[in-house]
Amino acid sequence: MKKIAIIGAGISGLFFANLLEKDKSYSYKIYEKKTSLDLNDGYGIQLSTNSITLLNKIGFQKMNASDVYFPRKVNFFDAKNSKKICDVDLSQFNNQSNRYTTLKRSKLIKFLLENIPVEKFNYNSNLTDIKNLDKLSLSFRDKKNEEFDYVVASDGVYSRTKQILFKDEGLPKYFNSIVLRGNINNFKNFDISLYLGANFHFVIYPINQNKEFNFISIIRKELIQEEITNRNIFKDTTFMNNLLNQISSKSDLNLSEQVKDIKCFPIFVSKKIQIPELKNIFLTGDAFYSFPPSFAQGASQSIEGAYELFDDLKNNSSNYYKTRILKTKQINFRSSLNHFTFHLSNPVNIFFRDFFLKYLSKNKSFLENYLGKIYNN
Ligand SMILES: Cc1cc2nc3c(=O)[nH]c(=O)nc-3n(C[C@H](O)[C@H](O)[C@H](O)COP(=O)(O)OP(=O)(O)OC[C@H]3O[C@@H](n4cnc5c(N)ncnc54)[C@H](O)[C@@H]3O)c2cc1C
Repeated sequence: MKKIAIIGAGISGLFFANLLEKDKSYSYKIYEKKTSLDLNDGYGIQLSTNSITLLNKIGFQKMNASDVYFPRKVNFFDAKNSKKICDVDLSQFNNQSNRYTTLKRSKLIKFLLENIPVEKFNYNSNLTDIKNLDKLSLSFRDKKNEEFDYVVASDGVYSRTKQILFKDEGLPKYFNSIVLRGNINNFKNFDISLYLGANFHFVIYPINQNKEFNFISIIRKELIQEEITNRNIFKDTTFMNNLLNQISSKSDLNLSEQVKDIKCFPIFVSKKIQIPELKNIFLTGDAFYSFPPSFAQGASQSIEGAYELFDDLKNNSSNYYKTRILKTKQINFRSSLNHFTFHLSNPVNIFFRDFFLKYLSKNKSFLENYLGKIYNN
């Protein structure tokens, strides 16, 4: 039986392990650098129908109904006065069993862990090196070594595997933006609310049926190299509160009062698509490509990529990277375009943007091409 090492117990690695667990044609181990996974985190995640269809293959539809939410629309607002610009009907891409879903990230991780035996996990295992001998020989920081036929690198945006394979070229780049996220209780709108401001946007959406909401803001911010490398400012409460106050003052929602448990981190994205020379090492999820987060597709693509890889291995078809590259280019284009249009600051540009948003949000063929192509893949 061929042996697979999964590096990283994030969304992609855990979903891939679920597929292996169902199929039983391979033996595998999961290596995770953290000592445990956070199963209490209250922050949210959006999953579009492309990933829900795949998650349902492993029983996601049986999740506790109160732990998920099915938003029907995205409402676009002008951040400064909360005036509605337009809305996009997400439910047009749903079908009976697969619906656009929001939930706590920790609930998704908990679900993905349910069917994986605990003995498959090696926590506190930080990958340090891969040597191509007869097989792939993996070394970890704790001096553990083991050989495998395949490596599935799902170790996220700061992928160590990518750095081993591509040195500095494998490092992601700072996207000149930072994320501020937090929780809100009892927000007034139960769909996805997207507020557009000058050089920032924020999104508020329910993460379950208990009136808990996720707040996430992407703010344009140039940082000096020292601030990027030394991450201390991101832990500084004054820095975080100042940022929140800054957005709050540019909106008529009292965010400083409403948003709790705030956290802040820099956004890093991939420099380019990179394919390992070794045919038995596969990059998946953010390790393959990290997108700007303005299209909410990172997790969904991590799930899709893991599924395609599993299918490829099973059928010995070597199509994995070909399909992934195509999909990655489509998502990257949409994520970058969203980011650019969401953050416009010139009033004339904003006027035209809002005009086009109103038109395009009701244009069936545009929506089918821009969203349907991705969601109903
Ligand atoms: C602010 C923000 C909001 C987002 N919102 C959404 C959203 O609403 N919808 C959506 O679809 N996507 C969203 N995304 C993207 C999504 O979170 C990621 O794309 C997704 O989590 C990637 O999954 P992954 O499995 O590839 O990596 P991760 O989930 O990051 O997991 C990687 C794992 O690998 C481990 N690891 C790292 N290095 C090593 C090593 N050397 N050895 C062993 N283990 C290692 C890490 O500890 C981690 O557990 C968002 C991203 C950001 C930044």
